[in-house]
Amino acid sequence: MRITDFRGTYRLAREGHGPESWKTSCPFCNSPNIIEYAEHIVTLCPHWKTQRQEALGAPLLVEWPAIAKIIKVLGQDPLTALQRIVPSFDVLAQDEPTVNAIKQMEEALETVTHDDLKEWIPKVAQFLDTIHHKRRKMIDRWNNATQQPTTTATTAKTGNPQRKQLRITDLWSKAPATSS
Ligand SMILES: [Zn+2]
Repeated sequence: MRITDFRGTYRLAREGHGPESWKTSCPFCNSPNIIEYAEHIVTLCPHWKTQRQEALGAPLLVEWPAIAKIIKVLGQDPLTALQRIVPSFDVLAQDEPTVNAIKQMEEALETVTHDDLKEWIPKVAQFLDTIHHKRRKMIDRWNNATQQPTTTATTAKTGNPQRKQLRITDLWSKAPATSS
């Protein structure tokens, strides 16, 4: 499977292969307003922390150098990818924290070398391969179920949603802060 062909549940739902709810939230972590694009699966979906730690060396990818490599590996437009990773972040806003964060991302992207990509493409492929069957099984089970999983059941399973929100905002606490 090519990395760029990896389809999140958002795309599956769009193509009629999943419930409507997949168009607005990731069924694996149930984070509100976070859609399961490939960017989310690889960087921040808390459901895959163990596998991410094993394949990519961290439970969640929140540092700019790692985010930049993932954006390049997925071959995605940087601003689109950033908006997918942190949907609450408005890339079009002109305020200082936003401008600084985008500057940090662009600087990190510039430092990604050909050797980095040679190392990270197989790493990301390995990560996606590791989660593939588990993910597929859950997707099939949800699709076969007559009713969609309820919010309470999945929230209970994955823990306090407030904590996930904090981790995501942690990304930005590292970003703007200082300005010249
Ligand atoms: Zn998720």
